[in-house]
Amino acid sequence: MTARIINGTAIRDEIYAELEHEVSELASAGIRPGLAAVLVGDDPASKIYVRSKIAACEQLGLRSEHITPAANTTTSELLALVNDLNSRDDVDGILVQLPLPVQIETRKILEAVDPAKDVDGFHPMNMGELVEGRPRLVACTPLGVMEILRRSGISVAGVDAVVVGRSNIVGKPMALLLMHGDATVTVCHSKTRNMRKFTSQADIVIAASGRPGLITPEDIKPGATVIDVGTTRLSDSRLAAELFKHSPQRLEKFKEKGFALVGDVHPDVAQVAGALTPVPGGVGPLTIAMLMSNTVKAARLRRGLRTQEKAASRR
Ligand code: NAP
Repeated sequence: MTARIINGTAIRDEIYAELEHEVSELASAGIRPGLAAVLVGDDPASKIYVRSKIAACEQLGLRSEHITPAANTTTSELLALVNDLNSRDDVDGILVQLPLPVQIETRKILEAVDPAKDVDGFHPMNMGELVEGRPRLVACTPLGVMEILRRSGISVAGVDAVVVGRSNIVGKPMALLLMHGDATVTVCHSKTRNMRKFTSQADIVIAASGRPGLITPEDIKPGATVIDVGTTRLSDSRLAAELFKHSPQRLEKFKEKGFALVGDVHPDVAQVAGALTPVPGGVGPLTIAMLMSNTVKAARLRRGLRTQEKAASRR
């Protein structure tokens, strides 16, 4: 068997087309959703992420603002900035790019963001609403995984799903979304004994550990769906040689650049799985798409308008 490779970029484009339509409808009602992206300091990877988010706003016609406080900003200065954004009516979404410099108390900052503008879904209030099964703004990556499953015709209700990873931004919200979708969910983590016992029985495996090649063909039930959230900049040439042993082109590229972006799933899993998301080009594009979607949703919720999903559920 060779897995169907799910094209995350094509799914993102589908979502963008729907969002463009929604944004132009809002524009005719005089509403232009706005996102404020706060990037403290000059971490190169964070700069690239924020630039992509701003570019997505521009593509979709959302208002965007890029705020770049200096690397030595204090917690209280950043709190003042967040409070200012909270009070502004033209800002619907606030995104504070992580990681923050060490002197800043990250938790304090994330908790200061108005939950109604928390388009990353990291605020405890939004997390709590998700736990209770009435989600408002949910973390973008797990939301993107649900879109991949839904739009690829992979049903979740009644299936056995395993989530590998239990972080607040991926693993936990992922497990909750699957559970609310009526899957039977097992969460594995670094202290799980014999993880294969769980993954090899699962209909859906979501890998979010950040450990390249962790999930091998022996871990997967034939025909299962495997979603690879992991994204690691791999520079270990021995591991690269193992992961790319059947992809001479990727190995060549790795040698040229000295690194490659890889997921948690060993490429040989494609010989066993029924469907698989690649890295790059799988979950990654959906994360930004869901940030855009959350910004539009926040703009609607703040004005008391029905959200698209509410409208769809009534049709
Ligand atoms: P994280 O906070 O480091 O959490 C990793 C989780 O994986 C932890 O719960 C950890 O368990 C578990 N884990 C680590 N090693 C394991 C092992 N050998 N076996 C089983 N579980 C193991 O990372 P994160 O923020 O959730 O991100 C996870 C991955 O997703 C990273 O590669 C990240 O880059 C990627 N990511 C991608 C996107 C995207 O847009 N594509 C977005 C966000 C994150 P413990 O809790 O026991 O430590």
